[in-house]
Amino acid sequence: MHYWKKINFEEQRQHITDALSKNIDYQKIITLGVPGSKLDGQVFYDQATFLKEAPFLQSIVQNPNHIGCHTLGDSEPYFAGTQEIEREVIKILAEDILKAESNSCDGYIATGGTEANIQACWMYRNLFIQEYNARLEEILLIASEDTHYSVHKASNLLQIDYLSIPVHMDDRSIIADELENLVAQAKQNGKKYAIVISNVGTTMFGSVDNPDDYAAVLAKHELIFKIHMDAAFGGFIYPIVQRQNNIGFDNPHVSSVTLDAHKMLQAPYGTGVFLARKGLIQYVLTKEAKYVNGMDITLSGSRSGANAIAVWMILQTYGPHGWLEKLNTLLYRTSVCCTDLNQLGIRYFRHPQMNIITIRASDMPGELAQEFGLVPDSHGDSSQWYKIVVMDHVQIDVLKQFTERLAAAKGSS
Ligand SMILES: *Cc1c(COP(=O)(O)O)cnc(C)c1O
Repeated sequence: MHYWKKINFEEQRQHITDALSKNIDYQKIITLGVPGSKLDGQVFYDQATFLKEAPFLQSIVQNPNHIGCHTLGDSEPYFAGTQEIEREVIKILAEDILKAESNSCDGYIATGGTEANIQACWMYRNLFIQEYNARLEEILLIASEDTHYSVHKASNLLQIDYLSIPVHMDDRSIIADELENLVAQAKQNGKKYAIVISNVGTTMFGSVDNPDDYAAVLAKHELIFKIHMDAAFGGFIYPIVQRQNNIGFDNPHVSSVTLDAHKMLQAPYGTGVFLARKGLIQYVLTKEAKYVNGMDITLSGSRSGANAIAVWMILQTYGPHGWLEKLNTLLYRTSVCCTDLNQLGIRYFRHPQMNIITIRASDMPGELAQEFGLVPDSHGDSSQWYKIVVMDHVQIDVLKQFTERLAAAKGSS
């Protein structure tokens, strides 16, 4: 861990205040052309004394715009102070958590996992077109059937065909034979290039795909491919509790990664992360974005710099050890609940390094799922699974209440 440290609140406050003071102060500097200002002073009073002690709220009020990407080229000079904090966040995530070499990655704080996944697909689609003269109908988007629907949005927006790979019912791993057959078939049908979305914690199951499985099959069938990791849910858990893994940048097959800070990290909504090896993000350069200082190579335009500050504060408040401790608490609760389910003979899926338990709907009364707020895989009559996500507020007490009720329901049936 080079950049990720535990920092006390006073030091954090100082660091953020310094960064904000290097941003534009509209009161002091004449800027006639910027279509922005701090938050409306009539509505959001900025002289409240408590703001001094609340660096995140202070940054909300100052309202820095982090438009563009700040890990390469020029950036808007007006927000240079807080852009530096965003660069620190990108380094912690790419290098400390996902094992990238020093300065080998670009990245930005996106609006969420959806944007980061679409950004990845957009980047690789353009790469195949620009470098290989690929035609749209020669490009394939490949992902498991448990993949988040944002990847279907990407397929639709970018007009590239989607190939869904079935998984085993019990362990949610990709069915290798099916992958092989489907890829061979796609090749027969003229596909030459593949964009793979490999999951690190699927939304419904928390299952983790093996990116090397995709790489092996695609290489064997001689397709040109790029692999993006969707770690929107698992990115702040799996690579931290399982340091030996093949989902980070030390795996040469991994080219880019999505993380979501507004899930496990409990950052404000609108805070995702996109990371990519250097030399890739330029493929989505919008040459027409001339009024932005530097290159616009992000899907979002204007975006709040406060989101980067929130991620920075959360990471530095815990530090790597504190965060691991918190994760271990969540995993412990998950295991306690799984032990109870085992005793009751209830079938479920759980990845041992993840905090999701996905229970077979046929093993559980629907009313109980509803009462305890479990989430079904499909809102309708056709649910096959219900999930529990062991977040901060999901404590052992309430998990025990749930399994006790489950036991009673089983006993009476
Ligand atoms: C939540 C999630 C997304 C989408 O993220 P948003 O932040 O809601 O846009 C993408 N992939 C996975 C695996 C997710 O869990």
